[in-house]
Amino acid sequence: MLRAEGRRLAASKEPHRPGPVHCSPNSPDQAWSGLRAKPLSRYSRAWEQMAVELEFIDWLNKRTTPQSGIVVGIGDDAALLKVPAGRQLVVTTDMLVEGVHFDLADATAERVGRKALGVNLSDLAAEAASPLAALVSLSLPKKGNALELAKELLEGMMPLANKHRCPIVGGDTNVAAGPLTISVTAMGTVAENQAWLRSGAQPGDRLLVTGQLGGSLLGRHLDFEPRVAEAMAIRDRYEVHAALDISDGLALDLARMLAASGVGAIVEVDRIPISSAAVTMAQRDGKAPLDHALGDGEDFELLLALPPDEAKRLCDTQPLQCGWTDIGEITQTCDCKQRHTDGTLTTLEPLGYQH
Ligand SMILES: [Mg+2]
Repeated sequence: MLRAEGRRLAASKEPHRPGPVHCSPNSPDQAWSGLRAKPLSRYSRAWEQMAVELEFIDWLNKRTTPQSGIVVGIGDDAALLKVPAGRQLVVTTDMLVEGVHFDLADATAERVGRKALGVNLSDLAAEAASPLAALVSLSLPKKGNALELAKELLEGMMPLANKHRCPIVGGDTNVAAGPLTISVTAMGTVAENQAWLRSGAQPGDRLLVTGQLGGSLLGRHLDFEPRVAEAMAIRDRYEVHAALDISDGLALDLARMLAASGVGAIVEVDRIPISSAAVTMAQRDGKAPLDHALGDGEDFELLLALPPDEAKRLCDTQPLQCGWTDIGEITQTCDCKQRHTDGTLTTLEPLGYQH
């Protein structure tokens, strides 16, 4: 197993000292910076550690599908990526901490690993970016088998990475006394000035949301499908003024879009797509299913503002499997209202998950 005495495995930021480990420039241990051997006075431990690290990198390399945008992936001090002419690089990062964002007693490491990559892919989708590559950094607890845990986390990420053509091209790994911490950085590309931003919503735009909302705690917060393909399909066929992914609840994330755009909105509560999980949760806790749909968060669906004719075209054709729903309109006044069944308007409070 990987071993470290509560300190960084990587040698890159430590002063160089002659050690017993010699590597050719192209050896695999040059790839995953945190898994490089470090100079140790205890030679046997250094060799044992290096063998484990090489095993992990070799294991990872065998699971990585080559992609055209990767000039140099795992195999050097840093990855080298190709950004095609006329496209911009989109970069996002997200960190999950055991005990804060997940509990390994409730979810397997594979599911947690999948989520760690998925939330980043969802952010790329929210910008209309095509995935390019990802970096994965792990702080593994000293207790237990760190190497096996690292493999399980990556096993969870790999299918999603392959599905969305987002290869893992490097990262960093520590073993430390703290909780399991997973940091993923994802990169994508988008045609120049074509990225979706939160700030572009205009009065008269329609508000559309993909999929269904609420009750994610029953499992979808781990197993959600980042709307990467949907975002690219919409991007290529329709004009979109503003977008974000719903991570903290529709009400709160909509408020963020409105604030960024300097506009307001009226949401038709009868149209909000309420998931069956939201209904189940409502039966358990006595809240209204609508409240779950508005405030639960971790839906990782897309919220989009489109010109009305584009929104109509999108809703008429419904070309995506996940479906989407027109839930309201953007207004000039800077407030967020909800229209009830009887036609009355009340303020839609920006309640949701606050980090
Ligand atoms: Mg986001």
